Amino acid sequence: MTDVVIVGAGPIGLLLAALLGRRGRSVLVLEKKAEKSHGSNAIGITPPSLAVLARLGLDQAFTLWGAPIRHVTVHGPKQRVLGTVNLGSLPPPHDYILAVPQNVTQQLLEQHLLEYSSVRVEYGWSFQSLDQDPASVTSFFQDAGGNPRAERSLFLVGCDGVQSLVREAIDLGHRPRKFGSTFLMGDYADDTGWGPDAHLFFTPQGAVESFPLGQGRRRWIVQTEQYLEQAGTYLEDEVEARTGLKIPASTCTWKSPFGIHRWISPHYAYGRVYLAGDSAHQMSPIGGQGMNTGFADAEFLSSLLEARITQPQANSETWNRLYSAIRRRAGRVAASRAELSMAIGTVRGSASGLRNTLLGLVLKLFPRFVPRHFGMLTIPGRSLAEAKRHHPRTLFALKELS
Ligand SMILES: Cc1cc2nc3c(=O)[nH]c(=O)nc-3n(C[C@H](O)[C@H](O)[C@H](O)COP(=O)(O)OP(=O)(O)OC[C@H]3O[C@@H](n4cnc5c(N)ncnc54)[C@H](O)[C@@H]3O)c2cc1C
Repeated sequence: MTDVVIVGAGPIGLLLAALLGRRGRSVLVLEKKAEKSHGSNAIGITPPSLAVLARLGLDQAFTLWGAPIRHVTVHGPKQRVLGTVNLGSLPPPHDYILAVPQNVTQQLLEQHLLEYSSVRVEYGWSFQSLDQDPASVTSFFQDAGGNPRAERSLFLVGCDGVQSLVREAIDLGHRPRKFGSTFLMGDYADDTGWGPDAHLFFTPQGAVESFPLGQGRRRWIVQTEQYLEQAGTYLEDEVEARTGLKIPASTCTWKSPFGIHRWISPHYAYGRVYLAGDSAHQMSPIGGQGMNTGFADAEFLSSLLEARITQPQANSETWNRLYSAIRRRAGRVAASRAELSMAIGTVRGSASGLRNTLLGLVLKLFPRFVPRHFGMLTIPGRSLAEAKRHHPRTLFALKELS
């Protein structure tokens, strides 16, 4: 019997597979898409996630590919500088946020999985339902031709994203809160000369954000009036109108509108079935915390599953409650911060002057705190070790986890 079946080969499923593979566990990852993903959605890997990648020996591969963001310059209208966020002041060795497109993150993780003979990833299998008994979980899949497949494992983890069917199978409803803000993002050749620096522009017409992507590419994001399915040249036009900067339209490789939702699952665990990543929480991509929060779920869960496998007689309900409580809290804090960043960034019109004055003051008065905030160093429960320090009430149960 397989130790752990993971549903979904997104970034969280792949990282969890690596963390379990490193412990010698047998893992099967089943992904419904027939092909690997090409979308570059999440680009910011924060220091706690980089530390997890470093433990897997992957930090070099990621830094070779990506762009280390150490400076974020915040501008008002007409490119007037309001202040800077010096991520370089974060504790070394990860004194930066690493920008890497999500599809590359997935590629690097999947390549790394080849090092573990006990881990397999298979494409073209869509999760349908599950059955659990006191000793195992049987999960049922189907391929594009309707052929069924059943897999028995000690544990099942739903890393199957926002529309998770694993979550549905354990009877958890999904009613995300929808926000009015909408955005459009695009990836272009980088002709700015800014190197690996990020630039944010807060103007009365709306926000513009610009991040390096590595390999001579750059991401641009503009706040929009509505969800723009057909964007035309809106992004390039608005960047120029709001900042005076021209971006090379013909080099665009990817463009995507996005809206904002928030939802945190009331439970992350049910018996032998677990949720991690977007299946358990949905938050604004502004602030770049969704994938990083999922990475921390995966790290925590890998320790918990190891403990459950090696100590089958222990009180699994306590551990399940613990995983839900600690990671839910982390998810809530991350989602609230993402909303705060979004609320600050999306003020338009005459109020934007006051916002900019206050922003300039915050950047000046809290030069140490702001980088730690954006680097996600102040999110609670981001690792088991940190949870042990900050949750004395749960210390007793956590003693059993290594
Ligand atoms: C525009 C945008 C920008 C973002 N920027 C950032 C950022 O900078 N930083 C950050 O931290 N986060 C960011 N995010 C969020 C980030 O993309 C997500 O948090 C992350 O992708 C979640 O990973 P996941 O593995 O949980 O889910 P997903 O990436 O959604 O992967 C789930 C996988 O499960 C598969 N699957 C689904 N259903 C089934 C099934 N029934 N059977 C088998 N497989 C199934 C899917 O095909 C998919 O491959 C951004 C998101 C968006 C939309």
